[in-house]
Amino acid sequence: MPLPTRPMPTDPAARVAELRAALDDANYRYYVLDDPTLEDAAYDRMLRELTELEAAHPELASPDSPTQRVGAAPSTLFAEVRHEFPMLSLGNAFGHDELREFDARVRKGLGLGADDPAVVYVCELKIDGLAISLRYDGRSFVRGATRGDGSTGEDVTPNLRTVRAIPLRLRDDPPGETLEVRGEVFMPRGAFVALNEQLEREGKPLYANARNTAAGTVRQKAPAVTAGRRLSVWTYQVVGVPGLASHSESLKLMRELGFPVNPHARRVEGVDAVIEYVEEWAEARKDLDYETDGIVIKVDSVEQEQTLGFVSRAPRWATAYKFPAQQVTTKLEEIEVYVGRTGALTPVAHVTPIVVGGTTVRNATLHNIDEIRRKDLRVGDTVVLQRAGDVIPEVVSAVLDARDGSETVWEMPSACPVCGTAAVREEGEVVWRCPNPWCPAQRIGGLLHFTGRGGMDIEGAGYAVVNQLAERELLREPADIFRLEVETFEGLDRYARKSAENLFAAIQGARRRPLARILNSLGIRHVGEQTAIDLGNWLTRETTRLDGEDEAAWTRRVADRLCDASAEELTAVFGIGKVVAEGIAGYFADEHTRATLQHLLDAGVVAEAPEPGATVEASEGPLAGKTLVVTGTLAGFSREGAEDAIRSAGGHAGGSVSAKTDYLVVGEKAGSKLGRAEKLGVPVLDEEAFRRLLDGGGA
Ligand SMILES: [Zn+2]
Repeated sequence: MPLPTRPMPTDPAARVAELRAALDDANYRYYVLDDPTLEDAAYDRMLRELTELEAAHPELASPDSPTQRVGAAPSTLFAEVRHEFPMLSLGNAFGHDELREFDARVRKGLGLGADDPAVVYVCELKIDGLAISLRYDGRSFVRGATRGDGSTGEDVTPNLRTVRAIPLRLRDDPPGETLEVRGEVFMPRGAFVALNEQLEREGKPLYANARNTAAGTVRQKAPAVTAGRRLSVWTYQVVGVPGLASHSESLKLMRELGFPVNPHARRVEGVDAVIEYVEEWAEARKDLDYETDGIVIKVDSVEQEQTLGFVSRAPRWATAYKFPAQQVTTKLEEIEVYVGRTGALTPVAHVTPIVVGGTTVRNATLHNIDEIRRKDLRVGDTVVLQRAGDVIPEVVSAVLDARDGSETVWEMPSACPVCGTAAVREEGEVVWRCPNPWCPAQRIGGLLHFTGRGGMDIEGAGYAVVNQLAERELLREPADIFRLEVETFEGLDRYARKSAENLFAAIQGARRRPLARILNSLGIRHVGEQTAIDLGNWLTRETTRLDGEDEAAWTRRVADRLCDASAEELTAVFGIGKVVAEGIAGYFADEHTRATLQHLLDAGVVAEAPEPGATVEASEGPLAGKTLVVTGTLAGFSREGAEDAIRSAGGHAGGSVSAKTDYLVVGEKAGSKLGRAEKLGVPVLDEEAFRRLLDGGGA
């Protein structure tokens, strides 16, 4: 297309249309065809002319104009978006054998014998970014949403509009009135490096990895910030378009409509060709300008996909091959001990900073002293560091050949590094603890647990804020946070009026939370998320809300009931064992903790109450009344995903195997729990049997 360079003042409407087409075309050539034809300066000049024309002729304005990429954030930003078709998660395959097993399952599902032809697959790079969905009405981009939990995400339209790779207007009419495509937003390596260089010049803290930076950029409040971050996108799926015979056809359709589709997607025949692709990209991916963490393999034929269908929520016709964990060597410079909220002393390795899988790693966990001894790690050692996916980096081993005799054996300090109290190790435990309940490090850990995600979820109340408030004696117990004024936050380091107001507002909004969250936020020993849920359900059943009783009054009755509960009573609660019950009863028998709870209620903390008179039934679903424990790596679920699935089926997701466990779900690399289950005679399920149980079938 010839580029319009001369303005035609006689017909502004025609000129506007011409400029928009030229700018859209420039984006298309850049992002979809990878064949840029317009220099940045020329692009900017045309964009400026278009902006001026639209300002002079407001009647010509249009939301899908290239000038409309950055606007004010509307109130719908972060509103819930229900996905009409759920955004699926795929099962995983590690190693070639599991790819062959996947192919064998597909062939079996399609009824193919040894002499039948190979299955046709499409292999695509798995981009390490944030999954999103894009919706178009006619040719216009109208809504962008995050994946969220797969069924409900967040509206991030104004932020996604700023991503130039996302077409605001399609190049052709879509097959139906509306169209939805899915893809992955990411931050190119070059953009990530440039961003960190800029932050460094400004003396600001750097970002650790491109993936989280991209996710944070999509989920932040000012679209202008997103616009400045140079995010990009690859799209890989179109949903709800009938009449497409294959996945490769849908990729072609997306390209024709103007969506950026990764050029390395390849249609291959049979599993050997899949493995060849995987091998090729295990190395070649390192030269790409974006992070990848695997390969997605999909059956190409839509008819075959339909025959194969789904197991629970994962499609049988696709899998995600994960590249092996990346290992690098670096130097173990120092070992420092951190004190957690339970007093646990955890040694952490400080290493010479090094990039692994897109993240700059400075620290790695060493778990405990036994682990350090077993691996014979010494300060000054060259060590092998490993990072897989989102997992915390881990020191795998020392490189013995690299030792020169200057390395030193590390000893666990005999006292808490923060308060100086002698550390203790209980019989049978591997962890050393600071036994001082007034230890400042434990107090801060406890306060952070209270404000954190599993607790009251107060956005902005992270380590820097909590630590400063605690140091100034403004935050001695959890309830204090609800008594602080905006001015107090303004007085904190690096806190401007606006962020102080935001934090204040977040705190005010955090007074009302589900009962289980409040219980979890207290940080009672042995009480994790699941126990808090079980305890909350029991308390809600025990305390029927009265007519005319407000939430505050109901919450007080619940708190009284909890403080009066005996260990015997609690042991009878579904999901709570003897040790945990004694822990809870002991916790609330203490005057000090009772006062802590009382102060929270006085500060206006209330639990979300059921309707007056409502009786809460014991859970329903195929797993009602059953306790399941998950161990090892499952192909189709993350650990959290499996536990969520158990809870939504009405069951209880236990942490350890006991005589009360109904089933142990076993994945790859199961550990000691399997042995314990066999000893206690607890039935063991593989993943297939687990899925059948979730779907309502027998085990
Ligand atoms: Zn201490």
